[in-house]
Amino acid sequence: MGKISKTDQEWREQLTPEQYRVTRQAGTEAPYSGRYEQAWEPGHYHCVCCSQPLFESGSKFSAGCGWPSFHSELAEAGIVQRPDNSHGMNRVELVCWRCDAHLGHIFPDGPAPTGMRYCINSASLDFRPAPDRDKNAE
Ligand SMILES: [Zn+2]
Repeated sequence: MGKISKTDQEWREQLTPEQYRVTRQAGTEAPYSGRYEQAWEPGHYHCVCCSQPLFESGSKFSAGCGWPSFHSELAEAGIVQRPDNSHGMNRVELVCWRCDAHLGHIFPDGPAPTGMRYCINSASLDFRPAPDRDKNAE
């Protein structure tokens, strides 16, 4: 699968206003407001814009920062990291490689095994529960 490019109008039609603001305008949802901040069901988190698989529930942890946090991305995620000096801070922005959606930021204060914290907006994610057969196998 290759890169995805859509017009601004197409993104506006596909996404909710909040999803559009966060992913296409590098917005940030209010802390503790996102639908996945306290979601712990087994499954995968995909890019809300292009369905690229990004994270799996096993790497999600409770960071207490108000946003869904992961210590690792999926091997196939291919999340792009780029410097973000907006708002007077030196941060590293996370962007979907396929569709350039803004996902969140990454900080070097996460748990093992990576020591990284992927701080992601719920509005950038689409959760897909694991199939029932996986649940029964636990
Ligand atoms: Zn994407």
